Amino acid sequence: MPEPIEVDVLIIGGGIYGVGIAQAAASAGHSVLLVEQQSIASATSGNSTKLIHGGLRYLESMQLGLVYEALHERELLFKLAPGLVSREWFYIPVYRYNRRPAWLVKLGLMLYQALSLGRSRFRSIPRNQWHKCIPGLNTDRMTALLAYEDGATDDAELTRAVAASAKQLGAEIHQHTSFVSARRVGDFWLAQLSPAAEFKATILINAAGPWVNAVREQITPAPPKRDIQLVQGAHLHLNRPCHAFVYVESEDGRVMFFRPWQHGTLAGTTETDFSGDPAAVHASEDEVVAILATYNRYFPENPCRESDILKQYCGIRVLPQHPGSAFSASRHTMIVCDDEARPDYIALYGGKLTTYRKESEKVAQLIARSLPAKLRADTRHIKL
Ligand SMILES: Cc1cc2nc3c(=O)[nH]c(=O)nc-3n(C[C@H](O)[C@H](O)[C@H](O)COP(=O)(O)OP(=O)(O)OC[C@H]3O[C@@H](n4cnc5c(N)ncnc54)[C@H](O)[C@@H]3O)c2cc1C
Repeated sequence: MPEPIEVDVLIIGGGIYGVGIAQAAASAGHSVLLVEQQSIASATSGNSTKLIHGGLRYLESMQLGLVYEALHERELLFKLAPGLVSREWFYIPVYRYNRRPAWLVKLGLMLYQALSLGRSRFRSIPRNQWHKCIPGLNTDRMTALLAYEDGATDDAELTRAVAASAKQLGAEIHQHTSFVSARRVGDFWLAQLSPAAEFKATILINAAGPWVNAVREQITPAPPKRDIQLVQGAHLHLNRPCHAFVYVESEDGRVMFFRPWQHGTLAGTTETDFSGDPAAVHASEDEVVAILATYNRYFPENPCRESDILKQYCGIRVLPQHPGSAFSASRHTMIVCDDEARPDYIALYGGKLTTYRKESEKVAQLIARSLPAKLRADTRHIKL
């Protein structure tokens, strides 16, 4: 085999976190190689609900810091990627039988507005406008329709745009290339890739999403580990027109979105424990039934059957091992490294699409402890 090529930073994974770190590290002047076993955004980052948001529902689990930070990043992304991230009105119909009454939802929206520093306005829609806002919506026993501002995107497009920005800054991105293993040799990692290639890297970044601990197991000496639970979330692309972003309660009290997507409706998501090979994730029969039932409950005039499903999307959340329900598990990104003062290995666990840039900057700051930045970089000013 020829002499291994040397890079400063080797990144495993071409999801939003891998490409975000590639962008941040390349903008600091480091040589970067990112390897992705499939194509960019082929896993979680192309199968999300595609919202750039603070996460209204995280107010219920009191993750206020996360919501504040994500709302701040949302505003930045409106400016950096105006063609990819749009401000939208989201509607919440409230019914007599809902677990969350209108006053509670309004309280949540007031808090959301405050945390967004006034950028997520909300309003109550008068009864005579309900049908105009959401044609076909079931208004039987409906008590209120509330609207608030949030953000939406095409997650895969956004991820590809960040990858393109990283490339422009000098990062190399190899798709259809798998990380196989790495071992520490002196001051370097010696990494084996497939198709066969050998690279020397000063810093190894594990941004493999649901594969994060599988990748870690191929590294010698074994780096620190975080115990996690994997939770799958399914979406159905339905052949029904969608006129608005709608946020509803499913029968079991969890929240679900219906949003316009490629001339149809994207409906989801679920939260189901997952084990096995992340590459094989798919919506279960129960998930399909639950999503269709929720859709049909809110849009009974034109109900959907399985034959109305155009496509299924399924992604996997990486959550910290947690005794209660997945709903209340922290959605913060966990950054784990081998040595806080001078890291050689940095892994990312979990997190949100919305906060990728901020978390990638945190990783870039960790990298700077071992490899001082060669350029003054700031991804807050790089347009996508
Ligand atoms: C159902 C669902 C809905 C969501 N909705 C939202 C939302 O609306 N808004 C929001 O902000 N966040 C949302 N999230 C969270 C967000 O999608 C994730 O936090 C984010 O996409 C994770 O990105 P990632 O880069 O860590 O992982 P991934 O996108 O999964 O990327 C990891 C990559 O690593 C690659 N890889 C793995 N092993 C190897 C190897 N050995 N060699 C090379 N490559 C490898 C994989 O192929 C994969 O492409 C949602 C998550 C889920 C599951």
